Amino acid sequence: MASMTTTSAGRIPLIAGNWKLNLDHLQAIAFVQKLAWSLKDARLDFNEVEVAVFPPFTDLRSVQTLISADKLPLKFGAQDVSAHASGAYTGEIAAGFLKALDCDFVIIGHSERRTLHDETDAVVNAKTIAAVQSSLVPIICVGETAADLEEHGPSAVPVAQLTAALAGIASGSNVVVAYEPVWAIGSGQAATPEQAEQVAAALRAVVATALGDDAAAATRILYGGSVKSANIAGFMRQPNVDGALVGGASLDIEEFSSIVRFQKHVGV
Ligand code: PEP
Repeated sequence: MASMTTTSAGRIPLIAGNWKLNLDHLQAIAFVQKLAWSLKDARLDFNEVEVAVFPPFTDLRSVQTLISADKLPLKFGAQDVSAHASGAYTGEIAAGFLKALDCDFVIIGHSERRTLHDETDAVVNAKTIAAVQSSLVPIICVGETAADLEEHGPSAVPVAQLTAALAGIASGSNVVVAYEPVWAIGSGQAATPEQAEQVAAALRAVVATALGDDAAAATRILYGGSVKSANIAGFMRQPNVDGALVGGASLDIEEFSSIVRFQKHVGV
């Protein structure tokens, strides 16, 4: 049986904390220090699970400096990126700027961006291209609304969104996919592990078509939507689920640390 710390396909699990619009740069420094201590105290083997935080843009330089100075085994990234490299785009942040801050990842197409900022599949695709061109790993978020679920079932909308996001991305590119049913985000009502697995398997097939079989085998597919320490184990038991994108619970150090240490409480 596969170890709970790597998936059956040998992918290293990724637990990613999306802070959204929370914690300024001073709070971020204190938070990241405490999180690192908590995980070190718990003797987490950072070779067996990747832990990444996604602070607001204005925190990134502070988080970069802290992680680099204290050699913390944490990764980090931004919550959004511009599709443009430079120019007259007031308020935008280029992928190259994030790379220059040592960001590993960038979240693209979160449902809050799609809904509150009218991000279309075309915009998500352009941002994904920009990220990959700057050697950032995009965490491409896809997911159906409650109405989509009723009308089309769980897979159709996420599959269409991911197909659009990956158009024009070179075969073999390194991407992460986050399946986040919109109805599960912040609602306290997570999908079942079986639902997540069904959609994750369909999304892996999309990656295979777009980027090739090897890339599909290597791609981490995360589940997101009301993940807690009490339900993470069920998701991590699924063969196509390789981690989690965590919103609310990522702001509670003990809870997030417990989610990261999912293998301690899987009971298998
Ligand atoms: C999210 O915003 O990506 C998310 C999954 O939020 P929550 O964990 O709070 O449902």
